[in-house]
Amino acid sequence: MYQKQLEEYFAAHQAQMVEDICTLIRIPSDRQEPKEGMPFGEGPAKALEAAMEIGRRMGLQVTDYDHYVATFDVNQQERGLDILAHLDVVPVGDDWTVTAPFSPKVTQGRIYGRGAADDKGPAMAALWAAKAVKDLGIPLSKNCRVILGTDEESGSSDIRHYYAKEPEAPATFSPDADFPVINVEKGSYSSDFTASWEEDKQLPRILSVKGGFRRNVIPDRADAVLEGIRLETVNDACRAFEAQSGVRFYAEEKDGKIFLSAQGTAAHASTPEMGANAVTAMVELLTRLPMADSEGFRKLCAVQRIFPHGDWAGKAAGVQMEDEVSGALTCAFSVFEYSLTGLRGMFDSRVPLCANEQNMRDVLEKAMNEQGMQLGNRKMNPGHHVPADSPFIQTLLRCYEQYTGKKGKCVAIGGGTYTHHLKNGVAFGCADPEVDNHMHGADEFAVIDQLVMSAKIFAEVILSLCR
Ligand SMILES: [Zn+2]
Repeated sequence: MYQKQLEEYFAAHQAQMVEDICTLIRIPSDRQEPKEGMPFGEGPAKALEAAMEIGRRMGLQVTDYDHYVATFDVNQQERGLDILAHLDVVPVGDDWTVTAPFSPKVTQGRIYGRGAADDKGPAMAALWAAKAVKDLGIPLSKNCRVILGTDEESGSSDIRHYYAKEPEAPATFSPDADFPVINVEKGSYSSDFTASWEEDKQLPRILSVKGGFRRNVIPDRADAVLEGIRLETVNDACRAFEAQSGVRFYAEEKDGKIFLSAQGTAAHASTPEMGANAVTAMVELLTRLPMADSEGFRKLCAVQRIFPHGDWAGKAAGVQMEDEVSGALTCAFSVFEYSLTGLRGMFDSRVPLCANEQNMRDVLEKAMNEQGMQLGNRKMNPGHHVPADSPFIQTLLRCYEQYTGKKGKCVAIGGGTYTHHLKNGVAFGCADPEVDNHMHGADEFAVIDQLVMSAKIFAEVILSLCR
């Protein structure tokens, strides 16, 4: 253990590390129009150049991979560890209050600015860990490589470019999430489904339904237009379903038509239980109304039977499943459009490790086909898992516990991180799960003590895996 040396080293270098982070925050590196030699536009390219400049100053071996990523090697030995972080950021709004997003402000032990927590601060913690190991002169038998990408937020084509040229290290971690260790990521299966029919002519009928805008968001709004039905009847059904559904309904009559809207609560599709889905509530409400029997209405009722309101486990669709390592399947029916002659829906499902094409896609396809609907032909993206008892994970947990004094543990998440496609890759740090850093929002900040502690932990990991 090198705790004493690392404590002293970072006490002496903390100010410089904070300055390096501020240098990077000053460069607006959200994705822009590509230019010659700048695959993600000017901002990400400038941020990469600034990081390479810092790396050279630190005495690390710097390599530029066509301005997609840059790598920073501690030595020339065979690789023992890669640390993967990113320099691109998400766009900013005009609702910042502490400072302008690209004018970093250091106050009360925090650095405010876009990218402070996601992921420029963690990227510099990784680079400073590499430099500390080099400066302390402790002999290593393996290399640690820090890889800094510039397209994590818009599809990760940066690291696809890199891994097309370079092999994966025996172990990789990415400080682009929370401590302790995220070793399990669910897979995903999302698709659309469609149906069409001869125009519904008989009254009362549903002219249109529209709800949701993105597949990965639980919709907070859905609208429908009805014809040939009394406002009173609709209102009665709304009041009867409101308390049960957790969604509010509003109906008004105009030009002989009823305009109906549902107001729910938005949430991320990987945590559907946090929201109130306006689309599933609207569909279920409509099935409770005395509409004329028609092919369209029968299809709408079938959609409701497959995705009933409040069922985010895929139970009615026949795909409810879970396993001990990765937890339960979630299924969010999130976008819907219905007209007099057809319908189209989209859903987003986060699937546990036990899911496969047969128990997931095939089951849904059968349920859809039985109701005269067609499932789109997207493939399932399988889950990701590095066993908790592997020496690599155990090393990460030990170093985390040593410096934080907290109990380390492995965590499973529903979303995909930078390391999803790496065989031996996990997310490790930098954020304290108990602090909301406003990542992707206004007034994003990083806690300086947390970043410095992360750098020490990373240095200890390098020393453990590359000695
Ligand atoms: Zn990130």
